[in-house]
Amino acid sequence: MTIQALGYATHTPQSDLVPYHFERRDPRPDDVTIEILYCGVCHSDLHTARNDWGGTLYPVVPGHEIIGKVTAVGSAVTRFAPGDTVGVGCLVDSCRNCEPCEHGHEQYCKSFVGTYSSVDPQDGRVTQGGYSDRIVVSDRFVLNIPKGLDLKGAAPLLCAGITTYSPLRHWDVKPGSKVAVAGLGGLGHMGIKLAKAMGAEVTLLTRSPGKEADARRLGADHVVLSGDAAQMAAVEDKFALIIDTVPYVHDLNPYIPTLAVDGTLVLVGFLGPLEDALVTVPLVLRRKAVAGSLIGGLPETQEMLDYCAEHGITADVEMITMANINNAYARMLKSDVKYRFVIDMASLKA
Ligand code: NAP
Ligand code: ZN
Repeated sequence: MTIQALGYATHTPQSDLVPYHFERRDPRPDDVTIEILYCGVCHSDLHTARNDWGGTLYPVVPGHEIIGKVTAVGSAVTRFAPGDTVGVGCLVDSCRNCEPCEHGHEQYCKSFVGTYSSVDPQDGRVTQGGYSDRIVVSDRFVLNIPKGLDLKGAAPLLCAGITTYSPLRHWDVKPGSKVAVAGLGGLGHMGIKLAKAMGAEVTLLTRSPGKEADARRLGADHVVLSGDAAQMAAVEDKFALIIDTVPYVHDLNPYIPTLAVDGTLVLVGFLGPLEDALVTVPLVLRRKAVAGSLIGGLPETQEMLDYCAEHGITADVEMITMANINNAYARMLKSDVKYRFVIDMASLKA
């Protein structure tokens, strides 16, 4: 028996999200069936709904910052039981055999299955995400939500949290490291909180003059307007790591001089060709790097959740009803989010 589900989907790049009835798969022995309580709203949901990256499979139910309660488990599931509070992020499967999968870096598996708008190779179904009442996910891709975390604020950890935690760890941020975060949105505010918790000296690079007080409250030591040449010159040669969360094409050249020797600017936002063309001179002369990073694997995502529970870190959220999602997308495009929308899924059932 397949499971009947209700969600919100968009049917074309131009249309609003509307109520949508669909089927979840018949649970397999390793599956966990989850009643969704909360789902964060990521800018990637919007990119996918609007087909910004091409390849969206319509209709699409977005949502990959999922918190829910387990309602049933298959016969092979040992890590979860009905009643457990769990999370699901951006991945719901992968090949499980390649080198990245064997190292727990499932996000770098060439055959990973995204939580929405992906084809599940086991049954050919298109996956549908967390803007819905329930989801069925293989136990390897389900996270344990540690006790003590506020569940609404924990939802964005499943994408915004791990996407910033992973590069902070990979580039070995520790007490005293000079870290900058470009863009204060969902990812950016988690980047500031996490870098601060790791002991870094944190700078926000923002195009928005109005965000300084919030940035400092979130943990930034310094705020620099990225469009102000004098302010950018004042932080020349400073950063060991810049996490660039800006979602749309932007000129990286003004940021590169702010990296120290051996510094890295890691792109986690924009996907596509850079404009203006990147001038290589400062990279070559001072061994600087431009890199990319994608979410995190399942072991590192669990590590991040446990770290956040230990350090009392959650997202700053604005709760919305499911019916308000189109307005939330419009506000996200205006950078009017403080700092993550989270859908209360009880509003879908109501
Ligand atoms: P968001 O909440 O909308 O925040 C993006 C921030 O970037 C804005 O608050 C704004 O900050 C800045 N910004 C927006 N438009 C800009 C523009 N045209 N030029 C310069 N700055 C701009 O988005 P998010 O959810 O944090 O996601 C950010 C990006 O990361 C998206 O592209 C998303 O798809 C991507 N993403 C990647 C991964 C990954 O694994 N790599 C995971 C999740 C999301 P200021 O006002 O402070 O400048
Ligand atoms: Zn996301």
